[in-house]
Amino acid sequence: MPRAFITGITGQDGQHLAEFLHGKGYEVFGMVKGQNNPKFDQVRDEFPFVEPVPGDLADLPSLVKALEHAQPDEVYNLGAISFVALSFNQAELTANITGLGVLRMLEAIRMVGGAQNNKIRFYQASSSEMFGKVRETPQTERTPFHPRSPYGCAKVFGHDIVVNYRESYDLFACSGILFNHEGPRRGMEFVTRKVTNAVARIKLGLQDELVLGNLDFKRDWGYAGDYVKAMWLMLQQDAPDDYVVATGETHTGHELVEVAFAEAGISDWERYVRQDQKFFRPAEVDLLIGDPTKARTKLGWKPEVDFPTLVKMMVAHDMALESAKLPR
Ligand code: GDP
Repeated sequence: MPRAFITGITGQDGQHLAEFLHGKGYEVFGMVKGQNNPKFDQVRDEFPFVEPVPGDLADLPSLVKALEHAQPDEVYNLGAISFVALSFNQAELTANITGLGVLRMLEAIRMVGGAQNNKIRFYQASSSEMFGKVRETPQTERTPFHPRSPYGCAKVFGHDIVVNYRESYDLFACSGILFNHEGPRRGMEFVTRKVTNAVARIKLGLQDELVLGNLDFKRDWGYAGDYVKAMWLMLQQDAPDDYVVATGETHTGHELVEVAFAEAGISDWERYVRQDQKFFRPAEVDLLIGDPTKARTKLGWKPEVDFPTLVKMMVAHDMALESAKLPR
């Protein structure tokens, strides 16, 4: 039975990946940080097949112990401070976990035996936020980076150190440059889920307003369930490499709001939406659109869920979730 070790197991991608790998017959280990982490109880209930292993991306010895225990064939580093807005307020923490955390994980892999025999294969969750103020459109694996947030800067460090360790120590280390990927498991702090949840609550009369920041941005949004397959495929290749994972389509914030309200049968959405400066960011990423040609041709990967289907899925999920809270 192959063994996989996942950091970020309590997040959206960790959950999708754990489910996917379990379906492929893997033994799945999930790193859990902190003492009595309440988020993990949720995961334990939903994914009883995941074995929790204590560890923290800020603590190298804990990573070594975690890998010694799990003895993985594959390590997926999905753990990070992943919310761009938070990274502006906690920039040092973001650099430490999202950036240096990658270095610590690579060192742990070398210590536990990855370097000598190339045994442990490593996946790093790189991000389209590295492109930031984009230098070309669409963005490919060769597009230069210009991050626009402490999160983006930390991800650039993570990406570069993966390339450096691969070249220096012959590690099987890959980076997936994943564009925004969403779904019903997305945290409520991200714009897609904030919108679909508010739409459901407005439809049910539980909320009367949706307050947002900038809506002129454009994103290449895909479905997280599709994207974790690309992570796995990268680690099944003969040689390690980096891949853009994206749909190749882009949509504005306005479109997101309009499509989500329409899905709930509300056409006069303007009356519910207000913009507030507090949700604007000090620097913005205006336009992301990825070119997934390399992932398609080399990995045989393609996204299954398109933008309208994604929004539909999320609104339906949030309608069911919020309806269940109503008094009977
Ligand atoms: P990101 O692409 O990783 O930053 O993903 P987010 O879902 O957090 O944000 C996507 C875009 O939505 C960014 O351009 C934000 O500025 C914009 N946005 C506008 N209003 C909001 C809001 O209320 N919350 C969030 N999270 N983003 C918002």
